[in-house]
Amino acid sequence: MASKDGPLRLEYLLEATRNLRNALDLEAYLQLVAEAAAELTDSEASSMLVADESTHSLHFVAAPPIQWNVMKSLDVPIEGSIAGRIFTTGNAEIVTAARRDQKHFKNIDSMTGFETRSMAAVPIIFKGEKIGVFEVINHRGMADYTEEDVAILEILAAEAAVLIYNDRLEKQVQKAHSEIAQLDRMKSDFTAIASHELRTPLGLILGHATFLREMVDAQYVEQVDTIIRAASKLKEIIEDLSNVDNFQTGMATLRNRMFSVNRLILELIDSFQEDARSKKITIRTNLHQTSELMIDGDIEKISIAVSNLIKNAVMFTNEGGHVLVQVEQVPGYVKLSIIDDGIGIPAADLTRIFERFYQVESHLTRKHGGMGLGLSVSKVMVEMHGGRIWAESEEGKGSTFTILLPLNLAQVKAAQKVLNS
Ligand code: ADP
Repeated sequence: MASKDGPLRLEYLLEATRNLRNALDLEAYLQLVAEAAAELTDSEASSMLVADESTHSLHFVAAPPIQWNVMKSLDVPIEGSIAGRIFTTGNAEIVTAARRDQKHFKNIDSMTGFETRSMAAVPIIFKGEKIGVFEVINHRGMADYTEEDVAILEILAAEAAVLIYNDRLEKQVQKAHSEIAQLDRMKSDFTAIASHELRTPLGLILGHATFLREMVDAQYVEQVDTIIRAASKLKEIIEDLSNVDNFQTGMATLRNRMFSVNRLILELIDSFQEDARSKKITIRTNLHQTSELMIDGDIEKISIAVSNLIKNAVMFTNEGGHVLVQVEQVPGYVKLSIIDDGIGIPAADLTRIFERFYQVESHLTRKHGGMGLGLSVSKVMVEMHGGRIWAESEEGKGSTFTILLPLNLAQVKAAQKVLNS
């Protein structure tokens, strides 16, 4: 091919970069870049290599089509090759006598039957990160490579760099997604196994301990009580696991009836008064000023959802703090807010606290008990009712957890059906 002069080259370069955008995938795209480079610099061949830092080598991502099958599986050592030198220094080079260059990696020539005489090569760099090397080989005719050839390579290398980088990011995102999915599956498996397998032996421990309590001498009653208390705590954890598992497997059902929200909340507050008093925390409510609110729902499930929030509010509030349980009617919904002036939740954790097993403090260092299940159970229970739950918080200042429950569940279900159909 005859050598192209300046304006013609520019035109061809523009045309080539425009065409590149039509390539279907990264491999086809890089191949087109390499072909354009060979054409524009009057070279016999062109190739592109990217670095694999873990193996300290470069591997080909584009090469002349007839050599591609051999070259795609070749590893070029970073330490022992001209391409490696360019990658390491980050400097473009024109090599006029490749065979005399000590770094020349002769394996490639011997495997492809291609003889490398001269070369122009540039590093592929994106956002300051060295990615690989782009080279053209054997200038046709008698002339050597020039700085203009290098400039052309640099323009094409910059084009390629963006795509290689994006492709890497995309792969990393895909990998992260599949790791998250796998982790989620493991959580589900663990939840299912733990809730099923622990239930029976624990039932036996509790049953027999309760039976023993009636049989043993008074001096042993305290020990047996300790067993019963510990087993009951375990039972609560297993119930949390079962609740999440049942929801996931679609086994959970609602047993609805009309009930008074006021009465339920007052009873729940009552059940936490002792814990609160022991930490000099006051729990207040606006319920005494509101009229009776009735909703149609599964009282047990709503009770679990709200009690987890009150329990947390007391747990994560320091001595002398305050918890307010507020109930309001808003159009179509009952709004329950559990407001504390406790330790608060860092913004970065706020979106994740409703995930199963998520805890803000590391499990190893945290002062509080729990498995990171309470909020995920609350969320499941609320969403089963067609409701919503969310948290707002400021670290060091306190948190507000809000539940919105529809007044008329039948209406919500009908609306959901229409939306899903
Ligand atoms: P756990 O049962 O382990 O407390 P939860 O799912 O109930 O798990 O809560 C998850 C995490 O959210 C807790 O470990 C805690 O770090 C944080 N959290 C929940 N409620 C509050 C609150 N009212 N104030 C501060 N942090 C809270």
